[in-house]
Amino acid sequence: MMSWERQITIKSKKELELMRSAGKINAEVLQTVADLTQPGVTTGELNAAADAVLKKYGVYSPFLNYPGATPYPASTTISINEELVHGIPGKRVLKEGDIVSVDCGTVYEGFVADSAITVAVGQLTEVAQKLLSVTEQSLYIGIEQMVPGNRVGDVSSAIQEFVEDQGFFVTREYTGHGVGRDMHEGPQVPNYGLPGRGIILRPGMTIALEPMVLVGTPATRVLNDQWTVISADRSLTAHYEHTVAITENGPMILTLLEDGTKPGRKI
Ligand code: MG
Ligand code: MG
Repeated sequence: MMSWERQITIKSKKELELMRSAGKINAEVLQTVADLTQPGVTTGELNAAADAVLKKYGVYSPFLNYPGATPYPASTTISINEELVHGIPGKRVLKEGDIVSVDCGTVYEGFVADSAITVAVGQLTEVAQKLLSVTEQSLYIGIEQMVPGNRVGDVSSAIQEFVEDQGFFVTREYTGHGVGRDMHEGPQVPNYGLPGRGIILRPGMTIALEPMVLVGTPATRVLNDQWTVISADRSLTAHYEHTVAITENGPMILTLLEDGTKPGRKI
């Protein structure tokens, strides 16, 4: 696992409001992309639509120019089928049966929201449909554990147990993370672990929880573009993410739409 120690920051009520504002915009970005996702559309067109929403609000994505082997070149990451995360949008054309993971961040008044969804292109195979359902459910099962006094391991293990009970796998190399003024703050929140372990969750902590689920094995590798992460066995993968605040009243999802619903395909 990639391991790092970064500062955990406790947000004030005012700061949580700014993060909620960032989160609403980010949700609108994801909803806009979901609405455009259909056979024949390119991932570059989806990214351009995301950019248009960000521009409308005068905000930007912290993904753009994110440091790596080469600076990340876009506002979103768009990852198809065996691509787990960090796919670079471009000329690829979506086709019937693809599953498309869209991840974006928004910086609003200095605070970051980070969230992702996986969207179906037309009719899916049974396993692809199950993968989307299990991955999304695992996110909400993890969020339920995000209450003051619980530990990071309670969140991680809840996700892992649910996903593995459904016959799928969670990645070991990529994790959820604290988020605030920086996109990646402490604590690191893996999608696997043991209950009762890790740091204690406290009110004012804000975490981007992001189950990354693979059909075949947990193993991943990075393509030659030095960004795109795929399943090592090229089996299907999915990714859902919310930025969540821990409050005295329980978890508060900051990356829902303005009307309080989650972004995604409206059936
Ligand atoms: Mg993200
Ligand atoms: Mg994230």
